[in-house]
Amino acid sequence: MVIIGAGIVGCSLADELTERGWTDVTVVEQGPLFATGGSSSHAPGLVFRTNASKTMTEFAEYTVRKFRGLELDGLPCFLPVGGLELATTPQRWHDLQRKHGLASSWGVRSHLLSPEECTALWPSVDRERVLGGFHTPDDGLAKALRACEAQARRAIARGARFLAHHTVVGVEESGGRVRGVVTDHGTFPADVVVSAAGLWGPRIGRMVGLELPMLPMAHQYAKTTPLADFDATPEVRRPILRHQDADLYFREHGDRLGIGSYRHRPMPVDLDEVLAPGEAPVMPSMLEFTQEDFEESWQDARDLLPALGDTKVDEGFNGIMSFTPDGMPLLGESHEVAGFFSAEAVWVTHSAGVARAVAEWLVDGAPSTDVHECDLHRFEDVQRDPDFVFQRSCRAFVEVYDVLHPLQPAGEPRGVRTSPFHPRQRELGAFFLESGGWERPHWYEANAGLAEGLDLPERGEWASRFWSPIAAAEARATRERVAMYDMTPLKRLEVSGPGAAAFLQRMTTGNVNRKPGAVTYTLLLDDNGGVRSDVTVARLSEQHFQLGVNGTVDLVWLRRHAPDDVHVRDITAGTCCVGVWGPLARDLVQPLSRDDFSHEGFGFFRVRRARVAGVPVTAMRVSYVGELGWEIYADADVGLRLWDSLWEAGQDLGVVAAGRSAFNSLRLEKGYRAWGADMTAEHTPYEAGVGFAVRMDKGDFLGRAALAALPEEPERRLVPLLMDHREHVVMGSEPVHVDGAVAGYVTSAAYGYTLDRSIAYAWLPAEAAVPGTRVAVEYFAEKLPATVAQEPLFDPDMSRIRR
Ligand code: FAD
Repeated sequence: MVIIGAGIVGCSLADELTERGWTDVTVVEQGPLFATGGSSSHAPGLVFRTNASKTMTEFAEYTVRKFRGLELDGLPCFLPVGGLELATTPQRWHDLQRKHGLASSWGVRSHLLSPEECTALWPSVDRERVLGGFHTPDDGLAKALRACEAQARRAIARGARFLAHHTVVGVEESGGRVRGVVTDHGTFPADVVVSAAGLWGPRIGRMVGLELPMLPMAHQYAKTTPLADFDATPEVRRPILRHQDADLYFREHGDRLGIGSYRHRPMPVDLDEVLAPGEAPVMPSMLEFTQEDFEESWQDARDLLPALGDTKVDEGFNGIMSFTPDGMPLLGESHEVAGFFSAEAVWVTHSAGVARAVAEWLVDGAPSTDVHECDLHRFEDVQRDPDFVFQRSCRAFVEVYDVLHPLQPAGEPRGVRTSPFHPRQRELGAFFLESGGWERPHWYEANAGLAEGLDLPERGEWASRFWSPIAAAEARATRERVAMYDMTPLKRLEVSGPGAAAFLQRMTTGNVNRKPGAVTYTLLLDDNGGVRSDVTVARLSEQHFQLGVNGTVDLVWLRRHAPDDVHVRDITAGTCCVGVWGPLARDLVQPLSRDDFSHEGFGFFRVRRARVAGVPVTAMRVSYVGELGWEIYADADVGLRLWDSLWEAGQDLGVVAAGRSAFNSLRLEKGYRAWGADMTAEHTPYEAGVGFAVRMDKGDFLGRAALAALPEEPERRLVPLLMDHREHVVMGSEPVHVDGAVAGYVTSAAYGYTLDRSIAYAWLPAEAAVPGTRVAVEYFAEKLPATVAQEPLFDPDMSRIRR
């Protein structure tokens, strides 16, 4: 195999692969070894592990663990000086308390510090400015160049070779498979090629027709002249420091200070203007320092650290690194050229963790860490448009140190994808948030009148953001009357052909080889038995299935496995779906159709073609909110007519349009899992409480062998918690304490408007995942009491759906 690039990612990957026995590894590098001229050559190497993403935190955790044990000629590759993040505004202090919770959830040791404790660690910080700090004693500095060489040496000892001054100019492929790389010094045949080319990634991607949604951006780093009260040795004594209220970070370089800034305007770099290694004055990834962009940061730095008063900016550069629209890496295999992998947009912080995941992917078939947030294929077509990538990546740069709410609305460009119902949603005053490029209503201002007088608990400021009491009214209308939900953005696939049934039997855990008209809730597992998606499979005819899936990643996965006689097609954009749910759903739909929508004629988990108000539809009797009703699918061109007909007919029944906010509450009352939030490839079906969707007796399927080898009783489980106090509404990712120690974390949470209780789903060790166990959810440094409950919390005998 060939790895393109000997930066920190390429070197880590060579080490991880050779350790797993893949020793025929060639790393080709356009620059010299190991100060190649890429970003790793000059990275100041700060490693702050705590991240809103569990996956990213785990990547960083592994990087630290690995680099701590690495040396190069007796010199360490990691300096464990700890990390300190300061708050100088009440908002930041509040957020650091949340971050402390995140750290606990993901297993990172951390403490909240008083201003005095902060200045004890960093005496030069102006005590008067600081409101508090977040201390992570095990964070520190990665010596990236040393770590590159140390890992490369180990890989070389196991058989790998590293070739400097070899520039990849092409990638060979045939028959849909990668065959090797072409360099300026000849061709290297390979069955697997991994691009770890850093900021040059898009150029390599283009060689195989892969548009990598990433943008090279300049970011300023400067060093001061010596500080009077600092010593020249050792290199660092104090923790790495963040002053995010001013978008700054600091580290010591002996008696000088290094200052990194994200304060300046976004400075995207045209890849065609990046010089080749031999041509650049210093290094290709180092551009000239633009002093004027640093002025504000310099002032902010001096305000925080008065000791900088007598110093100057001695040297600086605008270093190039990669940004993506959502700030996450791009990992995975091209779906057009098998064997071509991307390991791009990765920080030093996450490098070893990413390398381990990619190595596991290659050698074992699947990473042991859930990587769906980093999957190369997570972006929809419209999101890979260069203008979209440009605008969103610039925003990701601006927001890199911002306090971001889990529901933070996406910035421009907006309105990229809309369902046919969009004009009506706007008329009803929808509050839109975006997902997968789609505009999705979260509630409708038109329902404000219904929310008046509702007895709702006073929730905190954070939980009130991007929320409205109108959601409560919409949830109530769904339970009491009938509501229309726009389900268009949920991805739909058509799987057809002579081999379709056998193919889906092999790919899923359930028995989907049932008579046409059957709908099955089932799972896609990976080789490790992890839940890589949950899907509904509706058999429309002998050779024709419609699947509701969790995104483009599933499309790519199914296509990759599909034999020649099976066709997998994404039909999302050309179709639409309205969910009609509530006790009056039948009263709404039946009069509009000559088809039989009675309970006897159209049973639960059945699908049929029908006509509703003259519109040809595919109606599926399923419900994610726990009420009677149907998902009604139609072609996009007749979607608006369908919506209008239902809307008009529903007026006498008190129909409402309802949004995601109500939806999320209703599904949690029923205990319906949201893949990606509640369960991922890290979990087995039995742990996640979806073991009912597995038919071990149906014959072989993907992941079956791994499931068969599992111990009988899972060691952890996903369970519902009911908060003791109604006003305690949490958001997800909070740590859960059992007997005074962190034992798990919250996945999804919402106020259950029907139960009139606040609900939080959480992962807990099996011994604590027992109804009645008393726990505490840590929320902004407060411990909120809660109890493990029996699920489902609402309508356990399903009487509301089966009628
Ligand atoms: P690189 O190190 O750029 O390696 C890619 C390699 O691919 C290069 O050596 C390049 O020469 C080679 N290559 C490219 N094209 C070809 C080709 N056609 N043929 C052969 N070889 C090729 N991250 C942190 O975690 N902490 C920090 O404190 C931090 N600070 C930063 C400060 C600055 C100023 C900058 C710019 C970045 C910083 N980063 C930091 C980010 C971090 O440096 C990068 O994300 C990381 O180094 C990228 O590693 P890489 O291996 O992907 O890329």
